[in-house]
Amino acid sequence: MPRVCVIGSSNLDFTVAVPRLPRPGETVSGGQLVVSPGGKGANQAVAARRLGAEVRFVTLLGADLMGDRLHATLLAAGLPPEGLTRTDEAPTGVALIAVDPDGRNQIAVAPGANHRLTPERVAAHAGALAWADVVLLQLETPIETVRWALREARRLGKRTILNPAPARVLPLPADLLPLVDYLTPNETEAGLLTGQEVIGVEGARAAGRRLVSLGVGAAAVTLGADGAVLVDAASSIHVPAFPISPVDTVGAGDAFNGALATLLAAGAPVEEALLVANAAGGLTCTRRGAVDALPTRAEVEALLEQAKRRPRTPW
Ligand code: ADP
Repeated sequence: MPRVCVIGSSNLDFTVAVPRLPRPGETVSGGQLVVSPGGKGANQAVAARRLGAEVRFVTLLGADLMGDRLHATLLAAGLPPEGLTRTDEAPTGVALIAVDPDGRNQIAVAPGANHRLTPERVAAHAGALAWADVVLLQLETPIETVRWALREARRLGKRTILNPAPARVLPLPADLLPLVDYLTPNETEAGLLTGQEVIGVEGARAAGRRLVSLGVGAAAVTLGADGAVLVDAASSIHVPAFPISPVDTVGAGDAFNGALATLLAAGAPVEEALLVANAAGGLTCTRRGAVDALPTRAEVEALLEQAKRRPRTPW
């Protein structure tokens, strides 16, 4: 089984569907509250697990009822208990989300315990990095933790993927880039990382080349319905997306990253990894929610089969 170590955030998302987004000072009454697991770390860990990887997820939850609930959900998703650590220093991370009928949203995040996931706390689980084939990180935990994990993974000779999201914390400290084997920005993030607006395949190629010149091994720029572009020192390739009817694009990037990590850990060539990552990202758009929308391996295989785009490497 491919082995993936994910180090990152976990949130509990509280979502209310509202007829329109509230203005400042306004209260809008909406539908039923939906409580679901979220956070980029948790989403990507569950994405990799559903696609068949064995996953070690290192995250920090509060010692509160929300933490109990998330803990149970992550265990039920097949993540082992060791990395699911708890603290009484801060509450569990929470996102408060209002969504209007057009799918536009307004989100307030209280990172809570996610900001207490220090290098020391992750170092207590260094065995998970040593065990993994691929180490997958995002930016919802302290930057010094990301730096520590990238350095440790490099020292151990592991491949690293950094999903530079959310965009609001960009740009990145320049010293991180040479520690990254695969950087996976979306168009917005690629623009913030390079200081140049990124539009379409050609824009992604240019941004990818710039990111490689800044030190990353390769850049996989995701382009929504246009798929993804991979740029490394030698070449660039465009891997088209799958034609789907999107209903909610939340979680697409997380599915993409979980799939990329799984396929690279399985030893697949990167073009095949991107093909499967596009399938996983696309399927996530066909369902509402984040974790709840992440596809299984069987669903991804069915889409690949139907599109006659099967990868050669089994995973
Ligand atoms: P993010 O969710 O981080 O903004 P993207 O929107 O680029 O990232 O989506 C990630 C991946 O999900 C894309 O590379 C693509 O494979 C897939 N995807 C997203 N939107 C669509 C869409 N409308 N049609 C097909 N695939 C999509």
